[in-house]
Amino acid sequence: MQGNVQGNVHVIGAGISGLSAAVRLANAGCEVHLHEATQQAGGRCRSYFDAATNLTIDNGNHLLLSGNRHALAYARSIGTEAGLVGPKSAQFPFVDLTTGKRWQLDLGDGRLPLWVFDSNRRVPDTKLSDYLALAPLIWAPQSKRVGDAIRCEGALYQRLVQPLLLAALNVDPPEGSAGLAGAIVRETLLAGGQACRPLIAREGLSAVLVEPAIKLLQAKGASVRFGHELRGLGLVGRNISELKFGDDAVLLGPNDAIVMAVPPRAAASLLPGLKTPSKFRAIVNAHFRFDPPGGQPPILGVVGGLVEWLFAFPQRLSVTISNADRLVEAPREELAQAIWRDIRSAAGVEGDLPPWQIVRERRATFEATPEQNAQRPGSLTSYKNLFLAGDWTDTGLPATIEGSVRSGNRAADLVLAMRRA
Ligand SMILES: Cc1cc2nc3c(=O)[nH]c(=O)nc-3n(C[C@H](O)[C@H](O)[C@H](O)COP(=O)(O)OP(=O)(O)OC[C@H]3O[C@@H](n4cnc5c(N)ncnc54)[C@H](O)[C@@H]3O)c2cc1C
Repeated sequence: MQGNVQGNVHVIGAGISGLSAAVRLANAGCEVHLHEATQQAGGRCRSYFDAATNLTIDNGNHLLLSGNRHALAYARSIGTEAGLVGPKSAQFPFVDLTTGKRWQLDLGDGRLPLWVFDSNRRVPDTKLSDYLALAPLIWAPQSKRVGDAIRCEGALYQRLVQPLLLAALNVDPPEGSAGLAGAIVRETLLAGGQACRPLIAREGLSAVLVEPAIKLLQAKGASVRFGHELRGLGLVGRNISELKFGDDAVLLGPNDAIVMAVPPRAAASLLPGLKTPSKFRAIVNAHFRFDPPGGQPPILGVVGGLVEWLFAFPQRLSVTISNADRLVEAPREELAQAIWRDIRSAAGVEGDLPPWQIVRERRATFEATPEQNAQRPGSLTSYKNLFLAGDWTDTGLPATIEGSVRSGNRAADLVLAMRRA
């Protein structure tokens, strides 16, 4: 296949980063070709039919916040912003399984974190000075760890900071990058309740964030190829001249560009010498076919147990356990039983283990430590027509949907700038 004179853009990888780049480029009038190695789009953010529960489930429960403005703009651009649903204000119910104590954090709906001045709205057993002590995190240098910037103990840490940073960084917070933690604090807690409203794709990740993007791309004339893995690159000087897909190859013309939105290991094997994060952490999700009890909140924070967040979906209770390398080899049935025990306490329900599924994503995210964060490349490469995207590129955020969309947008904007140059 020969590149045409108007110029094509080849997007490699149909995860959220690749999809957001492809949608932005197609909307800007580019001729887009999306190449995905597997038979399904979505990458680490996808839904599938699961025979064990007889339900369509997500590979992992994904939480967005109303302050994730690039992710929301992406959903808006594919017509599905309304599919991201959550409570009207930033309320987070919590339960502590060790004491049975329940509380609700109510961040309100303002632009400032005024709730910290109201003892009725603060985390129980915390005082204003505990919140002020988080200040060193706000603009912490990239080289610092969270544990070097703040004290990782006390009620505020155990009941809010630890659950928030564990979910965002996917590492034990004290070892995590204070720079990345600071970005999270600035864009969530410090931005007031208006930025912290929790949002989930209740109808499923693929239905809300993936399939509508594929439909939009196809409607705009983009080609979308599944089972089309990029295996190698042909290079001429400072340009990529050929995409090698195994059975076929694409020769690139002078106006053609590539957005490579594959995970770091794939990117490093395609581009020897590329600096990438090389350490990853697992996330475990467990899904139980069980009607949520009346009044069960869509998202419940759980401390003092194995489970960290309990999500209620129609016909299903699902949990997330981050930084879960320790559970990757655990016997599945034992793990399901232990998680179900936590769910029974947290949701106040009875009954034997219902139909269940456990999804262990071994390389769910890069390890958000200062060392691994320093390995993230920007979007530009040493090749003039090749741009990188991915949650692992240098987005300034941990591995999140928001970071993915930012990276996809940035790579797309660089392609458009190259076209204008
Ligand atoms: C269990 C779990 C829970 C999570 N929870 C949250 C959450 O609550 N909130 C949040 O914001 N984020 C969450 N995340 C992170 C979020 O899912 C990721 O940041 C995001 O999906 C990454 O998208 P991506 O496009 O950068 O990478 P990927 O999703 O990895 O996409 C890369 C794509 O490239 C394809 N590919 C690889 N090699 C090739 C090749 N050679 N040729 C063609 N295609 C190729 C892959 O098949 C894949 O489809 C979670 C992740 C997991 C795993």
